[in-house]
Formats: sequence, C-alpha cells, structure tokens
Amino acid sequence: MRHLIALLACSLAMAGASASDSAPSSAAPAKPVAEFKASDAKVDGKSADVKAILEGKGSVPAKPSIKPNLKPAAAAPAPAAADEDQAEVDLSVRIAERLAQLREQQAARVAAAARAKKAAEAKRRKEAEAAIAAANKPKNGTHWTYEGEYGPANWSNINSAWAKCSTGKRQSPIDLRDGIKVDLEQITFDYHPSSFSEIDNGHTIQVNVGGGNFLTVGNMSYELQQFHFHRPSEERINGKGTEMVIHFVHRSFEGKLLVLAVLLERGRANPLIQTVWNNLPLEKQTTVSPSIVLDPNEGLPEKREYFTYMGSLTEPPCTEDVLWIVMKQPMQASPAQMALFSRLYPLNARPVQPSNGRMIKESN
Ligand SMILES: [Zn+2]
Repeated sequence: MRHLIALLACSLAMAGASASDSAPSSAAPAKPVAEFKASDAKVDGKSADVKAILEGKGSVPAKPSIKPNLKPAAAAPAPAAADEDQAEVDLSVRIAERLAQLREQQAARVAAAARAKKAAEAKRRKEAEAAIAAANKPKNGTHWTYEGEYGPANWSNINSAWAKCSTGKRQSPIDLRDGIKVDLEQITFDYHPSSFSEIDNGHTIQVNVGGGNFLTVGNMSYELQQFHFHRPSEERINGKGTEMVIHFVHRSFEGKLLVLAVLLERGRANPLIQTVWNNLPLEKQTTVSPSIVLDPNEGLPEKREYFTYMGSLTEPPCTEDVLWIVMKQPMQASPAQMALFSRLYPLNARPVQPSNGRMIKESN
C-alpha cells in the first residue's frame, strides 16, 4: 500500500512537472504534492504490481520502478509508512555518499602510493647515475705512499692511469720460486764511470746516471737510466728477502724497460753506496749534480747468475712489459750504510704480487 501511495504522489509530481514544461509562462502549474528528485529515486522490486494497478486506472503513465523521495503531504494517508520509506531512501543516500567517499579516499591513496614509488625510483636512478659518473670521473692524484690510505692497495684509486696496479696480471715484485733452471744467456755489462745527479723524490733516493752505460742480454741492448734503493728488498727468493735492494733501470732504444735487481745484505761497506750517501741532497725534490764521477760496476756482484721473468714497475703507474733480471748473488753494504738509509726510508717496498703462473727462468 505504501508503495502505491508513493507512486501516486510521484505521478502527481510528474504530471505537475509536465504541465510546467509544456506551458512554462502561462497558467500556473499544478503544485506537486511532493518535491521529486530523480537522484532520490530507487528501483523497487515490487514495482511491477504497482504498475499494473496504475495502468488499470489509466492514469498518467509513470515509471513505476522509481520510488520518489516523498515528504508526506498534508493529506498523506499513511505518514508512518512514508517516514519508513524516507528513512530507507536517506540510508541509501548515505551509503552511496559513504561509498563514493571511500572510493575517493582509496583513489587518493593509490595515487599517493604511485607518486611515492615514482619519486623513489627517480631518486634511485639519480643516485645510480651519480655513482656511475663518480666512478667514470678520471682521477688524477699524484700523491702515493707505501703505507695507509695512499698505500699499495689503493694506488689504482688515486690516478686513473694507475689502473694496472690492481688490474695487472704481470705485476712486480714476486716471490721467485719454482724457476726453470736453464742455460740462460750471459749478460754483458758495458758500464763506465759516469757523471750523475741525485734526488730524494719522496719515495727513495734516485741516482740518474749519465749516458753510455749499456747492458746487453740476448740480442738486445738497454741503456742505464737511473738506480734507486728499497728497504727491505721487494724481491723474495723462495720466500726470503734481504735488508735492501738496488734497482738499476734500463731502457732500450725502442723504449723497452729492463730492471736489474741487486740484493743487499749486511757486510762490508759498498763504495758505490758510499759515493751516493756522500752526496745526498739536503732537501727532498731537489736535484744535486756532484762534480765527481760514479762507477756503476761497483754495484754489481761478482757472479752473474740470475733469475728472469716478465713483470712491471713496482711503483705507480705499475707499467707492465718490464723485463726483470734479479741477480742470484747479493752484494754487501755495511750496517752504517744500511742504518743511514733506514733513517730516510724505513719502509719503501711494495708487497709481493701474485705470479699468476708466470714463467720464471733461472741460471743453472
Ligand atoms: Zn725499484
């Protein structure tokens, strides 16, 4: 019954609206018994029955499935039922409003999460790009040491041109063991008393030797460029090092490097070393050029047996393709000569590097 009343009210309302539409400015339209709002209507399952009743009376065609939002008219016969309908409609509206609100909130959360994800991805990408840029940025440091932050383990990080110090597979020094004993070619020394200059370069005492001092091995000749000292010896022979070593650096006409190592043990005073010590520069990085001559032959042992292998410079830039010759017989230096150097450089030796299966040959 209440549905019927509701629909009748609805029909009246619609009739009023229709009259108003057809003649908006003429006779005043019939005042609807109730305000009707389409948004307030809802489909009702019982509408078919109601529709049949309405059609039977031949009244204004209505949309029986629509239940209007009725405010009880003054003449409404069943105010209690209308109130109930109104409550039902209000509840539906509130539910619809709440659902819309929830959907809005969910959409906002999804959008916020998407924005946060996008921002995090952008940040990660930026950080990765910065890391790559930092890694690719050429490094051009020049300061290096034998210990600490600038020590051998970090040489390759100081300067991009020193990469071989960590990536090289033929680095020096190495522990000389398991050498192949063969008849090695004899080394011919053609050294002469020569002019020289000295420098304390911050890593060692280096003696630059005047030209014309040659070492020949096989069919290759190398000219002596300079010699310098390490403490302790960088080379090991079957795991054993000595207190010091002299490296004689040679260069061939084609630019190939050969370093001859002469190990130093405690014993008699060495005349070559004494000449060098007598002329030490007073300040680092200052070259002194004494007016006397120096004989490099005084730095060579009597016996000429040796080890040989392919290695590298033992300091930055750790250049490879260096031919090494390590004399088997050590030379001697006095305790006083050793002590003097240790005051300047107590430790200036690179640790032993992996031999990586390199061939080591040694004199029979
Ligand atoms: Zn050296």
